[in-house]
Parts: sequence; structure tokens; C-alpha cells
Amino acid sequence: MPDIAFWNKCNNKCVMCTNEGGFSLNDSALYGLRPQVEKLERWLKGRGKVYLKNDDKKDFVSLTGGEPTIHPDFFRLLAYFRRRLPGAGITLLSNGRRFADKEFTGRFLKVAAPPFAVAVPVHAPTPALHDKIAGVRGAFGQTLAGLENLLAGAGPLEVQVRLVLHRLNIKKLGPLLSFLLAKFPDTRRYSVTAIHYEIEGMSLANHRRLALRLKESAAALGSALPLIKRFHNFRLYHFPRCLVRPELRRLCWVTLPPEDRVYTAKCRGCRARRGCLGLMGEYYKAFGDGELRRL
Ligand code: SF4
Repeated sequence: MPDIAFWNKCNNKCVMCTNEGGFSLNDSALYGLRPQVEKLERWLKGRGKVYLKNDDKKDFVSLTGGEPTIHPDFFRLLAYFRRRLPGAGITLLSNGRRFADKEFTGRFLKVAAPPFAVAVPVHAPTPALHDKIAGVRGAFGQTLAGLENLLAGAGPLEVQVRLVLHRLNIKKLGPLLSFLLAKFPDTRRYSVTAIHYEIEGMSLANHRRLALRLKESAAALGSALPLIKRFHNFRLYHFPRCLVRPELRRLCWVTLPPEDRVYTAKCRGCRARRGCLGLMGEYYKAFGDGELRRL
């Protein structure tokens, strides 16, 4: 199932956003209720399977945007998707700021029946850097308050904290993990996913500021291993297995469709290929495959 974009407005302007620039300012660019419902119904008719992780074949839907929670029909759409996809895993991708409102969060938790995950990125351990990356002053405080409210009432809902790694925050990975452990010490209540950024949309436009090689983010993850081990559920997205330390390989997930990934000549005969993402296609175009080493 492809991602379903609720609407292409956002109240953040993240420097590494994979959407095109300008969408956050475009009031007329509304993804209404009907096109999303029609898209889902079309998919359900020609129902295909979508993989979630490695060989784990499950239906899986991502609700994305812009920022879904600011859509005027957010709760109606959410209720519709949940009703229409019973048993399918739904992941809502959100900047988390609307969840700073306890009443909004309470309403959301009533509609978001499991299996349901909400994924919220935290960009840095300090307001200054988080807000710089999010492009909005005050975003850090609201996102953290949103996570607190979600965790306070989540019950069976999965709360995922996402760390999108790029040049601007890679040196803060260790402090960010320490911050999360101090702020949310019960790590059974949430999962953490470290993601090497994608080169698309605003991140492509801002690539001179963001450019980061996989070996650099993999090295930062390796240095942070003692901290990573303290989290109950830690995942890595967009990392080829050969670039991360052996202890981290089992944390690597394959989350992109085959058309967005590349296995190069270096992957031929690799023992780790099964369950390995390979390289992101856009990464391969920008940096090549010089970092890969067959296992
Ligand atoms: S060489 Fe290719 S298949 Fe093997 S671990 Fe690296 S990226 Fe994956």
C-alpha cells in the first residue's frame, strides 16, 4: 500500500522534508477527504501485498502529509481508514505538535485502535537545534509535550520516536539518545527508529547543508552502541547491513519499495543480501557504492 497523504500543508518547515518546497505555505493545495478515500478504495479493489520488514508480509498503511493532524477532517479520515482496514497496521507520521493539546490527544487515542503506531521525529536534544531543523520556533516544546501526552495515554498504541540523521544533527546523536533516556526512561513504552535521511524534495534542495554519507551516520551509531542497547526497541531504516557494526545488523529494516532501492555489483554473492535494503536509489546517484563491502 502506498503512503496516503492527508494533505500537503504542514505547520513545520523541516530542512530535510521529503516533500517539495512551498507546500507548507500553499493554502489552496488541500488534499480533500474524497481523493484519499477514492485512493484507498482503488487499492482495496486491486489488493496487493506490502511488506513491512524482511519476509514479514503484512498489509501496512502509512498516513502522511504535510501534517495529517492539521487536516480539518483528520478524525473523520482516521475513523474511516481504521474501519476500512481492520487488522492492517496503520502508522501515522506526524510532527507531534498537535498532540501537545491533551483534549486533541484524548480524541485521537479513542479513534486510533490497534494495530496503530504514531511516529514523531525528534531532531535534536535542544530547542535551538530542533527548532532550526523544524523551521519553527517553539516546535521542540510542542513536539515533546505531544510525545508526553501520547505516552501518558497510549495503551496499546505504539509510539515511535524517529531520529532522521543528516549533517546538521549527526554529531548530536549521542546527546539526543541520552536526552530521550532521561526524558522517557521507560523505554518499553515506545520504540526509537534512526533513519538516514532521504534525498528528495526539500532535502534535495538543501542538500549542500545536509549531505551526509552512510558511513558517517553508521559510525555515529556505532559510537552510540552502549546507549542504543539501553532502548527496548531500536530500529534502523535506510542502512545497508554491511555499513553498520555487526551488533546493529539485526536492527536494520527494509522499508522502501524495490523501485526505490539498488543492489550494485558489490552486492553480488553477499551473504547479508537477504533482508538488506541495499542502497537508496537517490543516495546511489549522489554518492555511488564505494562504501559497500560484500559480507
Ligand atoms: S554488499 Fe549489498 S547486499 Fe551486502 S550488506 Fe552491503 S548493501 Fe547489503
